[in-house]
Amino acid sequence: MTQRFTEELRILAYEHHDECVSCGYKFQEGDTSHLGYDVDDKPLYVCDKCSNKLLETALRYFFQNRPYEIPPDGSKLWRYMDFTKYVSMLSTKGLYFTRADCFQDTFEGAKGLKKNKEKWDKFYLYFFREAIKNPPKGHEFRYSGNEVEKQAKRLLNDLEHGGELRKKQTYINCWHENEHESEAMWRLYSSILDYAIAVRTSYKNLYYALGRNPSINIGRVKYIDFQKKYAGVNNSFWYKRKCFEYEMEVRAIFMNINNPNKGEIIPCDLSILVEEVFVSPSASSWFIQLVNDVNEKYGVKIKVSPSELIQEPFY
Ligand SMILES: [Zn+2]
Repeated sequence: MTQRFTEELRILAYEHHDECVSCGYKFQEGDTSHLGYDVDDKPLYVCDKCSNKLLETALRYFFQNRPYEIPPDGSKLWRYMDFTKYVSMLSTKGLYFTRADCFQDTFEGAKGLKKNKEKWDKFYLYFFREAIKNPPKGHEFRYSGNEVEKQAKRLLNDLEHGGELRKKQTYINCWHENEHESEAMWRLYSSILDYAIAVRTSYKNLYYALGRNPSINIGRVKYIDFQKKYAGVNNSFWYKRKCFEYEMEVRAIFMNINNPNKGEIIPCDLSILVEEVFVSPSASSWFIQLVNDVNEKYGVKIKVSPSELIQEPFY
C-alpha cells in the first residue's frame, strides 16, 4: 500500500463512501474497501471483487457506516443570524466554524451522562483487559495480572483525556434543516429580532460552496436519550440530547489539531452558498434596503426577501 492520496481520490472516497464505484456494491460493516488508482492513474474506490482493477493500492480499510446521515441534495438548510454576522460572512467570504468547547451546550462531544460513567468505564476496562490479554498473532503476552490492570486503566485514562482534547480540536458550523421558515428560529438565533437575517441554502450547495472538501463532514445530528444511551467513542459530535431535537440540525465538522483559536473562517463561495436571504418578520422596510446596499457593496447578487411570516391572512 502506497498511502498516496490525491485530492481526487479523497473526494471520490468521500462522495461514494457507501458503495463500490465500479460495480455499485453496497458495502456492509466489516467489508474491506480499497482505495487506489487504475492503469491510467484514475482514482478508484472499490470492493474486494473489483480490487483487481487497481494497479496501485493506496489503502485498504474495514468499511464502517458514516456516524451521521447525509440529507438529500436539495434539502433546505437555514442559518439564522444577527446582521453583524451576516456582514462578517460577506466581508470574509467565509463561514465561521466554532470550536466545540465554545458552544453553550456543555454536552458537545459528551459520551454520556456523568451518572452513567461508571458503567461506561467498567465496559471499557473489560474491553482493554481482554485486548491486552489477547494480543494479535506473533505478539507475546507478557504481563502479570497487576500489570494488565495498570495498562487497562492507563488506556481508559487516555480515552477520557482524548475526549476532552477533541473538544478543542473540532470545529463546527450549524444549520437548521427545514422546508419552511421557522418563527422559533428567528427568536432563538437573534439578539435583536428587528435586525435578524436568515440565509437559505441546500445540502448540495453547502457542500459545493465549501469546495467539495473531503476533510469537512456534513450531516444530520442525531438526537438521543442520554439517560439510556451513550454517544460512542469517536462520533460524539454527531449526537445531541433529545431536548435539542427542535433544532433539526445539520452540521459541518472538521478537525484541526494545531489551532489555538476559538473559531476558524473557512473560505466559501457565497454565490453558490446563498440561495436566498430573508430579513426578520419585524424588520422595517429601510432594513431590507440596508441589506441590499450591503450586498451591493460586497458585490454579491443575492435575492433579499421579507420574511414569509409577515404575509397577511384573510378570514
Ligand atoms: Zn465492486
